[in-house]
Amino acid sequence: MQLLRRGDLGPAVAELRAMLISQALLPPGPVRDVFDITVEHAVCAFQQRRGLTVDGIIGPVTHQALCDARLRLGDRSLTYSVSHLMRGDDVATLQERLLQLGYDVGRADGVFGPQTERALRSFQRDYGLQVDGLCGPGTLRALRQLGLRIGGGRPVYLREQEQVRQSGPALRGKRIVIDPCHGGPDRGSVVEGVAEADLMWDLAQRLEGRMAATGMETLLSRGPGSSPSEAERAIFANDASADLVLCLHTDANGSPHAQGVATFHFGTGNGTTSTVGEALAGFLQRELVHRTGMLDCGTHPKTWEVLRMTRMPAVRLELGYLTHPHDRGKLLDPAFRDVVAEGILIAVKRLYLLGENDQPTGTFTFADLLRCELAKAE
Ligand SMILES: [Zn+2]
Repeated sequence: MQLLRRGDLGPAVAELRAMLISQALLPPGPVRDVFDITVEHAVCAFQQRRGLTVDGIIGPVTHQALCDARLRLGDRSLTYSVSHLMRGDDVATLQERLLQLGYDVGRADGVFGPQTERALRSFQRDYGLQVDGLCGPGTLRALRQLGLRIGGGRPVYLREQEQVRQSGPALRGKRIVIDPCHGGPDRGSVVEGVAEADLMWDLAQRLEGRMAATGMETLLSRGPGSSPSEAERAIFANDASADLVLCLHTDANGSPHAQGVATFHFGTGNGTTSTVGEALAGFLQRELVHRTGMLDCGTHPKTWEVLRMTRMPAVRLELGYLTHPHDRGKLLDPAFRDVVAEGILIAVKRLYLLGENDQPTGTFTFADLLRCELAKAE
């Protein structure tokens, strides 16, 4: 898909302006075909509202989100169609309603998959509706009536917490998808010949080695020469029934001053959040900041596809800015990448320890961890 940015002209821009007007992000009026500064501001506002990366540029992710945002619950009948999954904000709203009523749709990811259908059928059965897995006028009426009166927990996030507790503190047997970003022809950010994809591939190997030594099962989301989409990476993790997903990135910025490490978990910014994802992001952020001395850019909720579509807790790490000379220098040092790999592994261990046998941040070593894991295995 062609990117749209400030300065562009033509029918695609006119279509974009019409979409932004329908979202009340641009004032109504005759539709023009110029991507000017007001359009850029509107795009940024939309991206912020949706928890997307705010860059004012229409790429495939922002374009898809704009298409999704056009659909309101009730605009069309919703059902599970294997050949072409329905997606949009109307599906997300349906999923949110079902979640509020206690039906487990997984994440409210805006995609009508088999789990949404099962939840919808259970709802229809429980409320004496026709059990057809189709959200049409009758089901909508029932949902509207109930939605006003009943609120409840978020079973999917409680289930995530319970799974972590039940799976116990040992790392052995836990299945982790390591997701080194980009790949193949897509090099990610490249600064002075240093490519994000290569650095994160190398880090993934270091992490994989350490995890394997503790008895964990690791899967890489891609091979050295391939570059799956975010959605494909999420599907891979779902098919593997992974316990956790760790996405490895470095950041880049037009300003040479931007620097530091940040972590991201699934969350919409208005209260819906993966509690385990958030906890893991916190452990990762603290261990990495402490061990690397990099600037602490915090943990943040995001709706990026790989965080939203995965059915297990997923965290994305942005390990420094390749555009910052100091960060880049550190990342180029293999010993530094070992420190990062170790910090990540310890943070995962902390998640499963649930606060027990705690040691101060930054002091738990790989050797300690191996000793602890092997003692348990005997
Ligand atoms: Zn990246």
